[in-house]
Amino acid sequence: MAEAGRDIRVVVMGAGMAGILSGIKLLAAGITNCAIYEKADRVGGTWRENTYPGLTCDVPSHAYTYSFDPNPDWSHMLPPGAEIQEYFERTVKKYGVDRLVRFNQEIVSCEYRSGRWHLRTKQGTEDQADVVIAATGVLHHPNYPPIDGLDTFRGACFHSARWDHRVPLDGRRIGVIGTGSTGVQIISALAVRAGRLYHFQRTAQWIMPVENPAFTEEQKAAFRADPDLLHYMQNQPDYLANVERFNNALVDANSEGITEIENICRANLENSVRDPVLREQLRPTYRAACKRLIYSPDYYQAIQHPNAELVTDGIERVEPAGVRMKTGRLIELDVLALATGFNAGMFMRPMNVVGRNGVQLNDVWADRPKAYMAVAIPDFPNFFMLNGPNGPVGNFSLIDIAEQQLHYVWTFIEKLRAGECREIAPTHAAMQAFERDRIEAARKTVFGSGCTSWYLDAEGVPATWPWTRTRFCEEMKAPRLEAYELVA
Ligand code: NAP
Repeated sequence: MAEAGRDIRVVVMGAGMAGILSGIKLLAAGITNCAIYEKADRVGGTWRENTYPGLTCDVPSHAYTYSFDPNPDWSHMLPPGAEIQEYFERTVKKYGVDRLVRFNQEIVSCEYRSGRWHLRTKQGTEDQADVVIAATGVLHHPNYPPIDGLDTFRGACFHSARWDHRVPLDGRRIGVIGTGSTGVQIISALAVRAGRLYHFQRTAQWIMPVENPAFTEEQKAAFRADPDLLHYMQNQPDYLANVERFNNALVDANSEGITEIENICRANLENSVRDPVLREQLRPTYRAACKRLIYSPDYYQAIQHPNAELVTDGIERVEPAGVRMKTGRLIELDVLALATGFNAGMFMRPMNVVGRNGVQLNDVWADRPKAYMAVAIPDFPNFFMLNGPNGPVGNFSLIDIAEQQLHYVWTFIEKLRAGECREIAPTHAAMQAFERDRIEAARKTVFGSGCTSWYLDAEGVPATWPWTRTRFCEEMKAPRLEAYELVA
């Protein structure tokens, strides 16, 4: 670690997974002049906001864990959402990060003036910082579908990320719109509870089978007793090899890896769904993993439950009594859940972010959100993003991605702290070259192979990291300093 030469103030936006991680690292490095601003009254980010029935992370629990804080007590191979939330709340206390968090403070303005970031919250608090870490997440602005009559529905209607737990579900007529990871998990949880369950599908999904066994008490005791075993669980070679293979496949829509994924998913469909009509309705017509691949141990069973029905006719409108299909059929409902995803291109916005010389983030991102190496933006000095635009996304742990990004950002924080410079931002030339190469590569990835998804920007270009995971890990080991302007 560099010699501390300057007392820098660091402000972190958001107390979700990446914001908590930042707080832990700041305190560990002795940077106590810092604060984490959180708009809600609890930490946890996406795991605080999503509480829908069936909420589970489809990444193995021991891999979906901070590398430095293994958890022997995960109940299942795939962790339930509520356990992840508990893990983060526990971690915040364990590392003393709770004292950094300013709850119920939503940053609405962040402007770079006279060499510092000036921040203001909706609640009227003002602050200044030398460094800002934006850890505001990706999937937190619910997408409410523009379906006619949605507001006329007489029953209970809510987005999956705003689940209303006061509404009874058992024995009721429930509709779920959306067949992404969320919709599929809700259907799996509610098939046995609903009186009648309707899954409104606009596009069929590829479903990768997965097992989700519970860890036994003996296994958990062994994890507790043996740190090496726990470390092994976090870094299981089979899992890591799979992630590697999967990610190598994503970069080329015509790769053998994608065909291999399709074969497994297709066999799952053929072997699991008995009714040939239903089977065809559930058969996707685009490349597997073009949309985020769904891992589910039980969706096909759930949708074949006698209470459940897949509805593919197309929604005409919502009426007070239920959903009217394009065929004229009215499906009467008590509850309508909107598992319709998120507006992923927002990132920290609608916050007003203004960089050097009055440059507005909204203008810089007018065509698409972009960031050099997915972390930094020219004209926005000392402003770094975790899980920001163009980062890796897919079926792996975003905790690992955020840890690697923070490691990369840390080089800059040390330089600022050591007084080597006062401002660090990527050059325009580096940003342009990166974005040109990124877009060219992104079009060739499976995400750009002809489906719609939240991975695509407004022009239909995948907004993701388009290269291999290995390349990402290499880049994150240390910044290429020639791509940055360091101002003394
Ligand atoms: P999503 O993947 O964006 O899916 C949204 C669904 O809503 C799609 O099926 C979409 O249909 C449908 N939809 C949207 N607007 C509609 C409309 N107007 N009419 C009818 N259908 C409409 O959203 P999500 O399922 O919430 O998942 C978002 C992301 O969250 C995932 O990709 C994943 O990254 C993350 N997630 C992860 C886990 C996990 O286990 N790790 C679990 C849940 C979510 P089309 O496909 O036809 O557009």
